[in-house]
Amino acid sequence: MTDVRHSQFENSIARGDARPCDADLPAIGARLPVVRAAQVDWRFLILAEIANFAVLRRHLGRARADMLILDVAARISDALPDARVDIFGRDRAEIAFECDARLALDVAVSALEAAFEGQFDIDGELHLIHIRLGAAAAAGHGDDVHLVEEAESALAEARTERVTVARDVTGNTASIDRSDLARDLTRAIDREELFLQYQPKVHLRRQEIASVEALVRWNHPTRGLVLPGDFIPLAEESQDIVALTLWTIRRSIKDQKTLAAHGHDLRIFINIAGVLLADKRFVRQACALVEESGAQLGFEITETSVIRDPDSAILNLKIFAEIGIVIAIDDYGAGLSSLAYLKQLPARELKIDKLFVTQLTSSNRDPLIVRSTIDLAHALEMEVVAEGVETQAAMALLSVMGCDMIQGFLISRPINLDALIHFMEDGKYQAMAADMRAPFNRLATVWKRG
Ligand code: C2E
Ligand code: MG
Ligand code: MG
Repeated sequence: MTDVRHSQFENSIARGDARPCDADLPAIGARLPVVRAAQVDWRFLILAEIANFAVLRRHLGRARADMLILDVAARISDALPDARVDIFGRDRAEIAFECDARLALDVAVSALEAAFEGQFDIDGELHLIHIRLGAAAAAGHGDDVHLVEEAESALAEARTERVTVARDVTGNTASIDRSDLARDLTRAIDREELFLQYQPKVHLRRQEIASVEALVRWNHPTRGLVLPGDFIPLAEESQDIVALTLWTIRRSIKDQKTLAAHGHDLRIFINIAGVLLADKRFVRQACALVEESGAQLGFEITETSVIRDPDSAILNLKIFAEIGIVIAIDDYGAGLSSLAYLKQLPARELKIDKLFVTQLTSSNRDPLIVRSTIDLAHALEMEVVAEGVETQAAMALLSVMGCDMIQGFLISRPINLDALIHFMEDGKYQAMAADMRAPFNRLATVWKRG
């Protein structure tokens, strides 16, 4: 994004004469409550991100995609003429405003959501721009640091949960302070505050649990449950990611033995951060743990992490694959992808990002993208996992498309080891996979006709 584009846009915002919370109606949505002069009871910050940027970039080409944020900012400005809109990078806008009522944030969020329901005419073609929102509200005057941190953290949660997240800055305990959290994390690993939950992947044809993915959680002594979206980025910045991931591998090996003692031989997949793929010491330590134990593990990596330093990443992934670790490509389609690297990766599984899966049965383009991704992966001799499967209809359509495995809330949320053992013995998931025949037949007809 060039300075010229920014300044042109800022001029157009300036022409809009942004007045915090005055009597002008947003173009879409309800009236924001009126603020009296010199009275600022609440400050708000909404971070808006183009959720389907990678997909749009593929359709539109890089040059046009880089301009999309201007279209987004213009629509935000139409919906909230009183707010200040700033553009950051290619896919993000920050929306700030003030008001005397907390309710203004809910009004603004609804107005934004409504504004992005309509398609955009981009060079004569209609496209939906999915916008992801993380918002924060702070009472009274004060420094904006906490407001920004809270909004960032809300956006991180919005990415995982796929819903708009709004949080209040309370000025003390509830607000997530990155530096405090980073300091606590270093101790958390030794103090056994981290724990793993497991989310099964179900093989559609075999109707059995093919493997499970380990997802780390943090039981913080004062903040309660902290999800990985809030602390993995901190761990990556501070190098704690090495200790955290080695802990995860050790715990998975131990839990795999417990599962085996209950008669369940399951491969456990572990998420490996991109920074670790170029870390020789980590690679040595991880390989030693796996070889000593004979554990059946898999590593989930993203393509974006390979692109960072492809030579060492590919080399290290081959080392992992040689000792029997199954490599899966996680979040496929959400980040940078390159067919040149995809071909070279010793990966046996490709996981389609939930971005394409959660809207599979309501969008026109996502089924086409998913279908062609499944074909591509099969051509490269990989099995395909769809993550984020939340409905029977999505499961049925994926099955018709030839998807090999599914993972998502429909089958199970991430659960503790005890619950996993219970789940394996319960057999309900098999009934669910078998149950898919009704919607399957209907969707199969629709899909083949389309
Ligand atoms: P991921 O590996 O792509 O994991 C999938 C995330 O989607 C998980 O969130 C999971 O709870 C959530 N999810 C699963 N099924 C559904 C569904 O049907 N619908 C929706 N809306 N969401 C679903 P979680 O556990 O918060 O993890 C977020 C991310 O944090 C993971 O994304 C992974 O990138 C990272 N992560 C988790 N554990 C670790 C770890 O041990 N090490 C590293 N480096 N990263 C981790
Ligand atoms: Mg994963
Ligand atoms: Mg994923």
